[in-house]
Order: sequence, then structure tokens, then C-alpha cells
Amino acid sequence: MPPLPKPTENVYDLIVIGGGSGGLAAARRAAGMYGARAALIEMNDKLGGTCVNVGCVPKKIMWNIATTAERLREAADLGFDAPEKPKFSWANIKEKRDAYIKRLNAIYDSSLEKAHVDYLHGFAVFRDAHTISVLDPKSRELQYEVQAKHVIIATGSESIIPKVPGAELGIDSDGFFALSEQPKRVAVVGTGYIGMELAGIFNSLGTHVTVFSRTKQILRKFDPVIKENLLQEMQNTGIDFVFDSSVTALRKTDSGIAVEYDAKDQSGSKEVDTVLWAIGRGPHSSKMNLDKVGIETDPKRGYIKVDEAQNTSSPGIYALGDVCGIFELTPVAIKAGRKLADRVFGGQKDSYLEYTNIPTVIFAHPTCGSIGLSEDEAREKYGDDVKVYASKFTNLYYALLDRKQATAYKLIVTGPKEKVVGLHLFGLGSDEILQGFGVAIRMGATKADFDNCVAIHPTAAEELVTLS
Ligand code: FAD
Ligand code: NDP
Repeated sequence: MPPLPKPTENVYDLIVIGGGSGGLAAARRAAGMYGARAALIEMNDKLGGTCVNVGCVPKKIMWNIATTAERLREAADLGFDAPEKPKFSWANIKEKRDAYIKRLNAIYDSSLEKAHVDYLHGFAVFRDAHTISVLDPKSRELQYEVQAKHVIIATGSESIIPKVPGAELGIDSDGFFALSEQPKRVAVVGTGYIGMELAGIFNSLGTHVTVFSRTKQILRKFDPVIKENLLQEMQNTGIDFVFDSSVTALRKTDSGIAVEYDAKDQSGSKEVDTVLWAIGRGPHSSKMNLDKVGIETDPKRGYIKVDEAQNTSSPGIYALGDVCGIFELTPVAIKAGRKLADRVFGGQKDSYLEYTNIPTVIFAHPTCGSIGLSEDEAREKYGDDVKVYASKFTNLYYALLDRKQATAYKLIVTGPKEKVVGLHLFGLGSDEILQGFGVAIRMGATKADFDNCVAIHPTAAEELVTLS
């Protein structure tokens, strides 16, 4: 961490609260590209926010390692003299992963310096609409005050921990990255992105995983081609599911943690070493005096309300990223931050992020990619004017392997021109395949445009341009 700078002058053009994906992008664009005098306030002792420190980056590192474990298990089928159970050191990987993240933190420090953004370490609280008090993050004593005409709130989100007895015995995704040893038995509560991604990593690395779902499904909001195939694959690879269940308490036992639960027609107890809470995230919006400066939040969850151009209800104050609760994804926060800086400091008055057709990937095993409407959403919007093209097959990668894994794609189109309104991918490489198709779909691609593109053979993605 750099030494705490004192602001050289306490009046800025822009103050950004939060040094994560969105805040860093906005501050760097405003100061580095347009010469705005900017300060960025971060309460954590490292820059980068969730994505870099306890999110996308360390998660993808772990996903890569878990995928390598799968490839090693398949190696014997491909002619290699590979051990059935190669040794894996979680502790060693954690050390290397932490060192890598530390290097990234340093890169962010210097990138702010290069863009001439003042980095102020502390917890930001509004004194009035354009004056921010920077408090010591631990003691909450006032360190200094800064002022600006424009203020961006990019304070992100944090895990929700349920209020059940013994909840503190469990960990959240931050706790996952703090684990110094690999647990042998894990319970995962929640079946969204985080639950499914971390359950997959644990499972591929040899931990026994039990997932508690409050419904009969996983990834409830996604198209069935993703949620049904992924559930099947997770069950095929040994993950246990307790459906229609509600975890009522955690209890310490002599040899682990007992997960007490009620499920349909039965209640039970499951002993594990680690319990992962993955039941969603909520905004970092409290304790900042937002109400005092007229910033409206959603009364139930606390998300900051913004219009299409990230304006809050208080003039000159903007919010973006997870704290607004719309597409809680790193590239969304980054793009919203850059577009906002282009608009406020770059004179591009119509610059704002369109929150439609945003591609997203679940880094499960295999990866799943989704853009646009699910089949249900498309039918709700377009009625009978919806046509679905689908394909399920086995990737050629599995030709010589005993264990097969399915690949399944779904393309959803509407209207006489068969405009593509949804694409959902399940299978190896979906993460890399989706990005290019995302460009085409944002450009308004039709089924005929897909068909007119010559296939690349032999690939899995070629199925998408030969669907009938
Ligand atoms: P953040 O990056 O969280 O930054 C907010 C910053 O504000 C934090 O550093 C915080 O310390 C600081 N802050 C908060 N309050 C104050 C205050 N009052 N004063 C000063 N500082 C403050 N997204 C993807 O696109 N792909 C992925 O693969 C992916 N994987 C994820 C995996 C996990 C386990 C998690 C938890 C998230 C993942 N995400 C992923 C989501 C992604 O990390 C977030 O959408 C993204 O980080 C949001 O950026 P942000 O700028 O809104 O907030
Ligand atoms: P999600 O909203 O994705 O999932 C929350 C899960 O918790 C759902 O399965 C939900 O069930 C369940 N749930 C909610 N409340 C309870 C409860 N009281 N008891 C039991 N289960 C409950 O949140 P995550 O925390 O997984 O992720 C947060 C956000 O972070 C994501 O929405 C995503 O935007 C981002 N993220 C993105 C990633 C990526 O891009 N690859 C990876 C990780 C996170 P139900 O379905 O029934 O509502």
C-alpha cells in the first residue's frame, strides 16, 4: 500500500468512492484521458475491489487449476501414464495466487499515479452533497475532507449471511479465498453464480460437495439448456443436492460442522468441514449518509437508484457497479464508469451503457454462457413469435475418453427475419465462444447471418452456424 497522501488541495473536479472495477475505470478515464482533477477514496488497504482481490481473478485461477485436475484424470484415457490421483497442494497454490494478486494491486497503485489520480485511503462518508469526509477505516476518526462538483459512488457489494443460529461458523466467498487448506467435505448453500462456481472448483479438486437449494433447481434465472444440463453434469460428477431445503442452523461438532436443515417432508443434519454461504450479495451503501444528501435507495435491499446515465436522485452524484444491483459483473461496472467519464468530462453527452444483451458466463464445469433472453423471457415478450433452434452433442474432445460430457446450445429468434434475441451455451469452451457471438448479436444478427458464416471445422462452435 502506498503511504497515505494528504490531498494537495482539497477541491477536485471528481471524487470517486471505491477503488474497485467501476471506480478505478471512471477515475482513470476522467483524469488520464480528459485531465479532470480526480481523487479516489478506497477503504481497503489494497486497490482492485472484489474482482481482483476476492472475485473474478482468483476464482478464474482456481477454475483453471480445477480444470487441470479434470484433464489429468482424463490423461490415462489419452495414452498417458498418468497417476490416478495426482497430489495437489492447496496451500502452495494459495501462496502463489496471493503473490500474483499482490502484484496486480501494485499495478493498480501505479496506474492511478500515472493517470494523476490522488489515492486517498479511508472510509468515505457524505458531509454534504459535494463534501466527503474521509475517515480512518478502523477507528472511523476523521482524517480529512475533500470536495468536488462531481461524485461517483462505486462502493460495490458484500455477501449476505443469513440470520440463523451458528451462521458465523460458515464462510462466504471471501472466506473461500482465505482457506489455507482444502476441506474434505463442504456444504454449499445457494445455487447462483458463486455457489455453482465454487462447488465445481471444490468438486473437481476432490472435495465432497453437498449443495443446498431452496428450490428444485439451480441457476434459477438461466435458460433450461444451462440449468438442467449443468445440474445433470454436477450430479454425474458426484455432487450431492438437497432440494427444496432450508438451512436452519449450523452447529459445531467434534469432527466438523453440522448443517441442520428442513427439506420437503423431512429434516436432517449433514456433517461437513466447511460451510459456504452463497445466497447472494447486497450493496455497500449503508453508513455513508446517503439519505442526508438526497440519494434514493431501494428501501428493501439498499441498492442506489440510478437512471440510464447513472445519475442518482442528487444532482452531480452518480452511482455504478454492484452498488446499483443491475448486472453485477466487472465489465459492466468498468464500461459504466468509462461511459460516465466520457459523458461528464469528455463532452460525449449521449454516452451511457445500454443494459441489454450483456453476455455473461458461469465458470462451472463445463462453462455456461448466456446472452439476451431465456426461452421463457422471449415467449413472455414475443408470445408465439418465437422460434428455438437447439442442438445437443458430444464434443470431439471426448472421442477417446470413457467419460463423456454433453454440449448443448440454444438459439432463440423472433420475427420474420428471425432476429436472434437469446443464445445459451453449455459445454467446453462456452466462455471463449460467447464473446464473438455477443458482438454479432449486439449488431442485430439474424439466423441467416449465423447460417451465412462458414463453419470452422472441427469445433464445437460450428454447431451454432449449422443449426436447423
Ligand atoms: P467492487 O469491485 O467491489 O469495488 C468496490 C470498492 O469500494 C471496494 O474496494 C470497497 O472496499 C470500496 N468501498 C466500499 N465502501 C466504501 C466507502 N464508504 N469508502 C471507501 N471505499 C469503499 N464478475 C464478472 O464479470 N466475472 C466473474 O468471473 C466474476 N466472478 C466473481 C466471483 C466472486 C466470488 C464474486 C464475489 C464476484 C464475482 N464477479 C464477477 C462480480 C464482480 O466482482 C463485481 O461485479 C465487480 O467487482 C463490481 O465492481 P464494483 O466497482 O461495483 O465494486
Ligand atoms: P446469485 O444471485 O447469483 O445467487 C444467489 C443464490 O442464493 C440463488 O440460488 C438463490 O436462490 C439463493 N438464495 C437466496 N436467498 C437464499 C436463502 N435465504 N436461502 C437459501 N438460498 C438462497 O448470487 P451470488 O451470491 O451467487 O452472486 C452475486 C452476483 O455476483 C451474481 O449475481 C453475479 O452478478 C456476480 N457474479 C458473477 C460471476 C460471473 O460472472 N461468472 C461469478 C460470481 C458472481 P433462488 O434462485 O431460489 O433465488
